[in-house]
Amino acid sequence: MTATIFTNASVFDGLGDEAVPGMNVLVVDGRIEAVSEQPITSSEAVTYDVGGRTLLPGLIDAHAHVFAINLVEEHNREIPLTEMTAQAVPRIRKMLDRGFTSVRDVAGGDVGIRRAIAQGYIPGPRLFVGGPALSQIGGHGDHRSTTDERLNIDINASAFNFICRIVEGEANLRSVVRNELRKGADHIKVLASGGVGSPNDAIEATQFTEGEIRAVVEEARIRGKYVCAHAYESAAIAHSIRAGVRCIEHGNLINSEVAAMVAGAGAYIVPTLVAYEVTAQHGERLGLSEYVMQKLNMVNDAGIAMLGLCEDAGVKLGFGTDLMGEMEFAQLQEFTIRGRVQRPVDILKSATSVNAEIVQRPDLGVISPGAIADVIIVDGDPLKDISILTEPEKNLRLIMKDGQVYKTDLTPN
Ligand SMILES: [Zn+2]
Repeated sequence: MTATIFTNASVFDGLGDEAVPGMNVLVVDGRIEAVSEQPITSSEAVTYDVGGRTLLPGLIDAHAHVFAINLVEEHNREIPLTEMTAQAVPRIRKMLDRGFTSVRDVAGGDVGIRRAIAQGYIPGPRLFVGGPALSQIGGHGDHRSTTDERLNIDINASAFNFICRIVEGEANLRSVVRNELRKGADHIKVLASGGVGSPNDAIEATQFTEGEIRAVVEEARIRGKYVCAHAYESAAIAHSIRAGVRCIEHGNLINSEVAAMVAGAGAYIVPTLVAYEVTAQHGERLGLSEYVMQKLNMVNDAGIAMLGLCEDAGVKLGFGTDLMGEMEFAQLQEFTIRGRVQRPVDILKSATSVNAEIVQRPDLGVISPGAIADVIIVDGDPLKDISILTEPEKNLRLIMKDGQVYKTDLTPN
């Protein structure tokens, strides 16, 4: 048995509206066993006096790409997967260093990297993976040059096979989805509208037919999994929701009518606002084309308005970042951007219990008996000042994942 006790903690449990001071938390064999205002003692446990600091669930990022080592996706073309993995290792470790104990990878992350982390070969957050995102021809995942005329693209040999896969038609989509789920995917991602980083498609374009997306949803559902869809415009979001998609990625250009539709379906939206803001600042220098920069500015402007509109409609908002290449340093800035519109506690719920629901793991993202012991401790009260989280080197005092202290400068008693 390994046990840890945290005493005198101000506990934000991921669900409530307040942090509760003076609490004690017992962790046994990777799970939280007790959360109590009564003293907890055990001769076998390692005890940390939290000193009134805030103890909260490990953060969850529901939209990241561990293999997105380059901002310009075309630059990945000449990089073998082995080299890409080596370059991804420090990216993955830094996510955990920032307090993210779980990360959902929504294009590229596969079962292999998930297992390598779980087995301890790579320090990093627990991953949820979906393999390559699925794209139609000419869609957000089709980065081929204009001289590539292939229409009947072999499903096992398409361009960008690892991060995005071009698949068309319900029958082919079903085969690919069955295969990804056979390998152990946690979810399936479809690219249902144009995107920012792709060279040839308009943001507002709706991609895949409703029937194609429905086929993907049916296959995922049969195995207890779900589908998330990349979509910006209301038309593409509505189209995805009608087809049974459970989680919309980005959603910047949504209107209130479609926000109500998303809420009514009980679906989630994962905003990724920091990606646009930080990339707009650095993108030109890092080689993004004028067309891509134009699209970037369009969604950046709409993103902030979308938060209030979704809150008003009662949409369940997750928390994501979507940072490519060297932009990854800004992962925690999503908190302060969201803080321009939302209450800190609502942002924290998004990054803990709501994201845990999205990844179908209610035993994550909460501090309660039975939950997995993913815990962070910070100086100060992030429910009052969310920017506390953006300076982990100063304020993040302990990171525990799966009941193991990964990093701390607190001394046990
Ligand atoms: Zn993304």
